[in-house]
Amino acid sequence: MHPSPPRPDQRLRLERVTKRFSAHTAVDAVSLDLGEGEFFCLLGPSGCGKSTLLRMVAGFETPDSGTIRLGETDLTALPPHRRPVNMMFQSYALFPHMSVAANLAYGLKGLGLSRAQAAGRVRDLLRLVRLEGFEARRPDTLSGGQRQRVALARALAREPRLLLLDEPLGALDRALREETQGELRAIQRRLGTSFVVVTHDAAEAMALADRIGVMERGRLVQVGPARALYEHPASRYVAGLLGDVNLIDGRLGRAEPGGIRSVETALGILRASGEGEAGNAVVIAVRPERLIVGGEGGPHGLSGLLTEATFLGDRIRYRVEMANGTTLRASAALPAPGPIPAVGETVTLGVPADSAWILPA
Ligand code: ADP
Ligand code: MG
Repeated sequence: MHPSPPRPDQRLRLERVTKRFSAHTAVDAVSLDLGEGEFFCLLGPSGCGKSTLLRMVAGFETPDSGTIRLGETDLTALPPHRRPVNMMFQSYALFPHMSVAANLAYGLKGLGLSRAQAAGRVRDLLRLVRLEGFEARRPDTLSGGQRQRVALARALAREPRLLLLDEPLGALDRALREETQGELRAIQRRLGTSFVVVTHDAAEAMALADRIGVMERGRLVQVGPARALYEHPASRYVAGLLGDVNLIDGRLGRAEPGGIRSVETALGILRASGEGEAGNAVVIAVRPERLIVGGEGGPHGLSGLLTEATFLGDRIRYRVEMANGTTLRASAALPAPGPIPAVGETVTLGVPADSAWILPA
């Protein structure tokens, strides 16, 4: 692609966008500001309203209320083809009887390009997705990953300011998915076009996005970089969505220096990070890799029976049964610095206060 001159403000801004299907509120007062050239992922389980939100930005659905702007332009009333936005669907919708080049040229129709200009653009697009030499091939002779890249090139043909991708890698197998994630990210960086990708796969969202927006039943409940969401989730819902987590119910105790609180739990008194009023019911969220198996229990450390140790190559996964019957999951990176405990042993379980996060119950 040719370097473009500086473009005017083209940031997407959603303000309290709502969509109802009869009694069901599919998207509930979602507000969001996208950064310039940002790669944003909407993450949430099936049915939480991701596609509906994306379809409203593209213009295939009309919000019941709220506004959608791109820079100074109010998109809300514009039909899809008048919006400087394009959407790539999971079913790539390539024309099977047309060559790759013809599929891409189709995406350029109506732009008033000469034949030579169009051919040049098709070449640029193929270079962008690393499919030079595939001009004459038909889509059914390509691999899934290659078809996905042709569809991406076609979606980018008109140089949209914003590209919307609904589960773009959903049809690819695991290995190809990871490879394609890297390519998608690289293409987006090269173009500087803002991307909004919908996915239900947290690992994918973490691999792709500058920021992730987590949706829960139509609402956007937390927005931030992957690391912030993973380490500082705002709720047990977000904590569980981003990865494996131990949740321990408790009651908030007194404050200690450094934002540390004591929390009374069925496992004993633990120390954790967070805020709230003493006496409040809370839940402590702690990731398995943050628990220290065999480590110093410390003044408030735990001990339990190691019931399972699963070798996973780069790490080992433990299950530890506590005296009250609760099971905690821990994991440790391999190679381990010390001896690896055996199933049946009693182990201590360190819970570092700065890795245990206090959430509303
Ligand atoms: P996601 O993409 O997160 O899986 P969707 O946005 O597709 O979720 O759907 C959100 C909710 O809205 C679901 O309960 C779905 O059944 C409902 N829904 C989506 N589209 C329609 C429609 N055209 N008519 C009625 N209900 C719909
Ligand atoms: Mg969907």
